[in-house]
Amino acid sequence: MTNWTHVVVGGGLAAAKAVETLRSEGFDGRVVLVSAESEPPYDRPPLSKGYLRGKDGLDKVHVHPEEWYAGQSVELELGVPATGLDLAAHRLTLGDGRTLDYDRLLLATGSTPRRLTVPGADDAPLLYLRTRADSDRLRAALAGGGHRVVVVGGGWIGLEVAAAARESDNEVVLIEPQSTPLLGPLGAELGGLFADLHRRHGVDLRTGHGVSEVRSGADGRVTVVDASGGEHLGDVVVVGVGIRPETALAEAAGLAVDNGIVVDAGLRTSHPDVFAAGDVANAFNPLFGEHVRVEHWANALNGGPAAARSMLGQDVVYDRVPYFYTDQYELGMEYSGHLGKAGYDQVVYRGSPESLEFMAFWLRDGAVRAGMNVNIWDVVQDVQDLVRGGGRVDVVRLEDTGVPLPDTLA
Ligand code: FAD
Repeated sequence: MTNWTHVVVGGGLAAAKAVETLRSEGFDGRVVLVSAESEPPYDRPPLSKGYLRGKDGLDKVHVHPEEWYAGQSVELELGVPATGLDLAAHRLTLGDGRTLDYDRLLLATGSTPRRLTVPGADDAPLLYLRTRADSDRLRAALAGGGHRVVVVGGGWIGLEVAAAARESDNEVVLIEPQSTPLLGPLGAELGGLFADLHRRHGVDLRTGHGVSEVRSGADGRVTVVDASGGEHLGDVVVVGVGIRPETALAEAAGLAVDNGIVVDAGLRTSHPDVFAAGDVANAFNPLFGEHVRVEHWANALNGGPAAARSMLGQDVVYDRVPYFYTDQYELGMEYSGHLGKAGYDQVVYRGSPESLEFMAFWLRDGAVRAGMNVNIWDVVQDVQDLVRGGGRVDVVRLEDTGVPLPDTLA
């Protein structure tokens, strides 16, 4: 493969880990990484946590320092988007008109925040959080504390921003249309736990009504109107209403796209020489027997390398149990599993949720489909083994903190 060229499109974790793996697996041909962003690939979780709060520097954000890429003979094309893809010619066109011919291509184009579409939103100075520049803007806006912050959306980003804003002494109103934050990913029981956590920390949490209008004032402040008629004046308004996979390039090229770029268990797209990984990939996961698109850090961390091995012709089956984590105030949490459309029919607690040191399991038909550990560590492998095994558990034993997790099977 010495004369081959592998091109990776993306400036996030999936892209960085893919080029790293191409080299560590011995590929000695040309490797080019193309990113629309003008700095080396970076990790996004710190952007709503340590980096946003000024605790972590750039070293915690960049996956590798820029010189690492030169040391690995990885060519960086930064600050230039890929704008065209000719599958038949194996040719990528860049925003500045140059072209790059490839033998194998990886699309790790991630995702982009959904925009608020209510009247007034287009012209208002609303903040979103996806890039380092977004995090810098938000950090500057929160600096010094004492600001009135309105957060639109009670998903992971909205909640982490609310926590960061409270921890730097700002007033926070959070508007969530559903009955609790995180209703989709966690359900009402555990969503309620996050609602209580934020209320305890002084967030004015308004649930049950979405935003109906946004009014910009001449002084730069913004009034967010909710569907019940409530008006919330913000010096800073941050919107976290979900993301959409960045599929434009793939779609225009004619690759199969459906809730992301559709890939098989080897992360191969509908064209045999093109692969996709990370947030943008809707991958067939044989463990669940369905396509799953995972918008979380661990999927970029592991999916990038898996795609790279597939590009090198290795037999790859990417069947990981989806995993994510969050940190909010004193709560650190890890979640493993996939509820899918079938959902769950029972929530089982191991330890007391009030103590904020417990585990929760989502069961369907007596088997653990997902589990979360809150301020309890080194249990992820056991949780994932239960999910992967798919066996029925004995609920009484699962609730009993004295019974090791592997011994809870019925
Ligand atoms: P991305 O990180 O989105 O990177 C995609 C890259 O591709 C970008 O650099 C983009 O500019 C580039 N690109 C797109 N189109 C083109 C193009 N046409 N040409 C060239 N370049 C292009 N997950 C967790 O599990 N836990 C957390 O606590 C957590 N916190 C988060 C906090 C924030 C603020 C954000 C934004 C995300 C967080 N996530 C978290 C999610 C996690 O960061 C993502 O799942 C991860 O970034 C996905 O990596 P990726 O490489 O697939 O895509």
